[in-house]
Amino acid sequence: MKADETVLPVSRGCNRRDLLAGVGVASILAFFSPSALWAQNNGGGLEQFAGRSATRNGKDYEPWRQSMIWQYRKSDRHPEIIIQANSIDDVCAAVKLAADLRKKITTRAGGHSMSACFLRDDGILLDVSRLQEVRLAPNGQEVIVGPGVIGRALNEYLRPHNLAVATAHCGMVPVSGFWLGGGVAWNGNAWGGMAVFNINGVDIVTADGELRHASSTENADLFWAVRGAGPGLFGVVVRFYVKCYPLPKSIQSTEYIYHLSDIVEVAKAVEEIGSQVADNVELLTIVAQASPEHAEKCHGVGCNQAVYVNAIVFGDSVGEAQEKLAPLHNHPIVQKAIGSHPMKQETFESLYTANERSFAQKRWQADNVMTDRADKIAELLLESVPNCPTDNNAAVLVYKGNPRFPDAAYGIIGKFYLAYYMVWDDAADDLAVAKYHVDYFKKAKKYSNGSYLNEFNQEGRPEDLPLCFTSDAWDKLKGLRRKWDPNSVFHNFYGQQ
Ligand SMILES: Cc1cc2nc3c(=O)[nH]c(=O)nc-3n(C[C@H](O)[C@H](O)[C@H](O)COP(=O)(O)OP(=O)(O)OC[C@H]3O[C@@H](n4cnc5c(N)ncnc54)[C@H](O)[C@@H]3O)c2cc1C
Repeated sequence: MKADETVLPVSRGCNRRDLLAGVGVASILAFFSPSALWAQNNGGGLEQFAGRSATRNGKDYEPWRQSMIWQYRKSDRHPEIIIQANSIDDVCAAVKLAADLRKKITTRAGGHSMSACFLRDDGILLDVSRLQEVRLAPNGQEVIVGPGVIGRALNEYLRPHNLAVATAHCGMVPVSGFWLGGGVAWNGNAWGGMAVFNINGVDIVTADGELRHASSTENADLFWAVRGAGPGLFGVVVRFYVKCYPLPKSIQSTEYIYHLSDIVEVAKAVEEIGSQVADNVELLTIVAQASPEHAEKCHGVGCNQAVYVNAIVFGDSVGEAQEKLAPLHNHPIVQKAIGSHPMKQETFESLYTANERSFAQKRWQADNVMTDRADKIAELLLESVPNCPTDNNAAVLVYKGNPRFPDAAYGIIGKFYLAYYMVWDDAADDLAVAKYHVDYFKKAKKYSNGSYLNEFNQEGRPEDLPLCFTSDAWDKLKGLRRKWDPNSVFHNFYGQQ
């Protein structure tokens, strides 16, 4: 544990072994199989938890299970027990309960995984959304955060201190799953490349139910896994120690709009522009529905969609933003723009709110590749988007440049991150959308350096999940899983044994 760790009496609860209400676990196990034991107890042991809990046959179970999933497409997988942790003690107790009952456990923080990868058949689902601790470390440069805290709340907390951290583009996404899987953040290129590299350390409950600290100097191999194993992590993170950055004094955004038919040229131009702008300029190329005004100016195929090149400067002044946006404004591609928006002042809140409008709760599926071939990916979009079964689909190409990362489980790099989202309303369209999406990525794989775990279509192409890691990292992760979770208390990645 860190020296300043005095807030919660973690070790007391985290060492307790009294989960089965005073009955000796070993003697019971001699007579009953773990599941028979569970049935006999009919929830016995759950009274130990301060937070809410439910078993599969309970009346609250199904509405609660469904509410765990952020979106309206409710994956049909049913854990046997759901436990909500109210404290770190509860987390330790839940992991020990899983080990004692020989049931596998998964963790859920905000349920924003678009594959709902935290939902598994059988076993225990542990919800950590109520672990909401936030405090600034005494050094004033690091924030200590519970897994249930959302990005918006964290940056609101830090604002009076003139600090900020790298969060997801929607303020409602909790830090937990986002950071652990990688984290394509606002101002990501200037702030660590991927948000996971801002984690200095974690407090983590491991498969034996014990609370440990992991950092580059303590349990370093576990820390290696924390930085990128995401939904395949063999532990529950209960506190993050995360690097803060000075709050940008001036956030400015601007936008150019193009016809979909120009997307290949636009992608090539953005690559040139990206190589010329500073790291604190975020360059997003978004294919999304065209406004009626723009659709009217368009002729031919693909007029329902337009290409939006959005640049956001996280700097100190309007002057700095103007200077840093010069490579965008001066590029000849702007002659082809069918519309533009002048530079405007933003805040984290305005950025979060605008993004949350596009992420309305509907049926969702996400997939992605990291690529050095934005031109080829754009060609594929041009060919595919007009045939997409839902008009409400959006592709986002994030310019990532040439990052170099410390050695960690996260290791997939590419000049561009392409995330392609399917958004639709009607369950009757599920199959058609799923097929279109998987087919797109079968073709995109040719230009892919790998994928980003947090927005990878785990349900649609689970066999490709290892492509979210370098092959060395994948092998190392397997070895670390054997070391830290020898009895497989934690579920492996969705779709992996
Ligand atoms: C609206 C929306 C916007 C998004 N925007 C972005 C974005 O801008 N950039 C980006 O990179 N991603 C984005 N994502 C994807 C997001 O990063 C992932 O869905 C992420 O997993 C969400 O975090 P969560 O805490 O809700 O995870 P959950 O869905 O709750 O959990 C996912 C998995 O993470 C693991 N996990 C979660 N918490 C813990 C913990 N404390 N300890 C151990 N394991 C844990 C579990 O294995 C779990 O299966 C977005 C998703 C949505 C729905």
